[in-house]
Amino acid sequence: MAKFTTEQIRNVCFLGHGGSGKTTLNEAMLYLTKNIDRMGKTLDGNSTSDYDTEEIKRGFSIYTTLTNVEWQGTKINALDAPGFLDFVGEVLAALKVADTAIITVDAKSGVEVGTELSWDNVVESGKAKAFFVNKSDDPDANFAKTLDELIERFGASVCPVVVPVAPGKFVNLASLKEYSYDKDGKCTEKDADPASVEEYTEKFFEAIASVDEELMEKYFSGEEISHEEATKALKTGIASGDITPVYSGSALKLWGVDVLMSGIASTFPAPNAASTVELEDGEEMELSESGAPTLFVYKTASDQFGRTTYFKVVSGELTNAMTLRNVETGASEKFAHFYVVKGKKQTEVDVLCCGDIGTISKLTNTNTNDTLTLLSDDVKVKKIAFPEPFLTMAVLPKVKGEEDKVAQGILRMVDSDKTLRFENDPETHQLLLSGIGDMQIDIVISKLKAKNGPSVDLEAPRIAYRETIRKRVQCEGKHKKQSGGHGQYGHVKMTFAPGEEEGLTFTTSVVGGSVPKNYFPAVEKGLLEAMKKGVLAGYPVVGLAADLFDGSYHDVDSNELSFKMAASLAYKAGLPNAAPVLLEPIGELKVCIPDSFAGSVMGDINGKRRGSVLGSSATPGKLGYTTIDAEVPKAEMSDYAISLRAMTQGKGSFTFYFTRYQEVPGNIAQKVIAEAKERATEEDK
Ligand code: GDP
Repeated sequence: MAKFTTEQIRNVCFLGHGGSGKTTLNEAMLYLTKNIDRMGKTLDGNSTSDYDTEEIKRGFSIYTTLTNVEWQGTKINALDAPGFLDFVGEVLAALKVADTAIITVDAKSGVEVGTELSWDNVVESGKAKAFFVNKSDDPDANFAKTLDELIERFGASVCPVVVPVAPGKFVNLASLKEYSYDKDGKCTEKDADPASVEEYTEKFFEAIASVDEELMEKYFSGEEISHEEATKALKTGIASGDITPVYSGSALKLWGVDVLMSGIASTFPAPNAASTVELEDGEEMELSESGAPTLFVYKTASDQFGRTTYFKVVSGELTNAMTLRNVETGASEKFAHFYVVKGKKQTEVDVLCCGDIGTISKLTNTNTNDTLTLLSDDVKVKKIAFPEPFLTMAVLPKVKGEEDKVAQGILRMVDSDKTLRFENDPETHQLLLSGIGDMQIDIVISKLKAKNGPSVDLEAPRIAYRETIRKRVQCEGKHKKQSGGHGQYGHVKMTFAPGEEEGLTFTTSVVGGSVPKNYFPAVEKGLLEAMKKGVLAGYPVVGLAADLFDGSYHDVDSNELSFKMAASLAYKAGLPNAAPVLLEPIGELKVCIPDSFAGSVMGDINGKRRGSVLGSSATPGKLGYTTIDAEVPKAEMSDYAISLRAMTQGKGSFTFYFTRYQEVPGNIAQKVIAEAKERATEEDK
């Protein structure tokens, strides 16, 4: 039997603006439950959740850290998610397994961009939500103003539950108890004076009455609502999303953290509050403690010691030595040793109940988003929809020949971050690393270099240009070699013209056998080979129609090779006169932004980025957002992820996919051609 039942598990994740106190709150919970004997600080690099070398170096969270505490008979699994936008993949993974998100808000700053982004992410995930208004100890903290902002921005579900009444004094509106903290964070409890919280009671009772008709009647007829009734209503409302409770305190001074934990234990939903699990195929699976053991993998961490797989038990009970089938890869994975973790500390357990979260090491055939089960059915839990990475950089090893070492190192990191992509561009032969933001990419490079790894430079990726012609020309190519014995002879006369097809359109109109039929394929082959390098800047040629209309041959000396050579000579002679032009890749850009930024974002597309806006409309399902459709040259998109974030306070998102090629404007073409020539000279050296 598991130590805890599903009913006793609370999975919460901390979200919020960077610096609002997520890590400190997590630390305070660990301290109050005697898991640590002093509070670590993010800045000192000794907090339980920010323990990675890069996190310590940078002083903020990059990864979601999992810890757990026991409080009032419940086990609270806490996921401390990073605040920076680059790590949204970690946030989405944490939200996938959390049942409630607690958004920390700085009582001094009120609602910030990160608060809004967190809210949007939670709403999208469908999970329950709560606020913890932190830093009440700060002389500039203003709870009342922050609460007003929360209500104004996020609507009527926002309901004050624990409010400050004096420095270090808080009242729980549900129980009407007052909690006073001394300088060590020790709490004493007494009945509160209702007058001290008068300004909040109306809002509180209105919110809880709204989820229960009986309470509504009681409230309007002036009858008293008991603590038990209020708690029950809170529980229902939080689980359904009709109530977003607001707690307050100071994570640093340990004010209100115990009250928050009690709120989590008594009113936040257990994992089985929603009784089904969403599946990949749109169906739902019954969530049951007695069902067949089934796990969902929400995260994979890899380092030099190997892989750690993080999972949530979504059905049944996981017990020691079970062998589960990975539905995605077909692998059988034995669960001989699995763990619960507190930051970097792992504790082996031999049973985990439905809803609990654990880790296991060295599963080589299991990845993030996989489902493992004892069921014979191919159930797949709905996957985390990680955003596509659109910020791409070319990775150039500083030392030639270290490409493999670089690739191996980066691939290990890509394995654990589904918002990174790493590929070898077959055309430009560059190693391309794509991510959500520049900080994320910077961390990959920094980790690669750590411990004597390879150093690399980052550059904007090379653009895969194309060349084509605009004019029709006639030309000839003759290949003749007489060097004793067997000679070589091939001679073609051809027309080159702009073609309809993407590649080469090859036709023949030879009369009287001046070029025998059996050499036609050689001519075509010769052209195809020549087209790999255009005459302007050496980029592949597209849209070429070539007609072979005449030529000559020699009975003894002509062969395939000679006609291939002749075709290539004709190509080199003809194309420079056929008005060759440079083509660039154009992509379809879709940008989703708050309405107020539409003007400046469109201006940027039309202006700086040489794009054209095709249209804009209200974003379906996202109130107050506009989607802009545009076409933009790929060459102007390399920094768009960074630039859009700056233009929209991080609220914009976009997708960009290649659609077609288009002629490069003259002045830009000249630059590209000059650069290509310079590179060719370099390479020749
Ligand atoms: P995170 O980025 O949201 O994880 O924020 P941190 O927990 O790292 O906190 C950011 C900064 O705010 C740190 O310097 C903390 O010491 C400080 N801080 C956190 N909680 C409080 C609080 O309750 N009161 C005060 N005065 N400072 C706090």
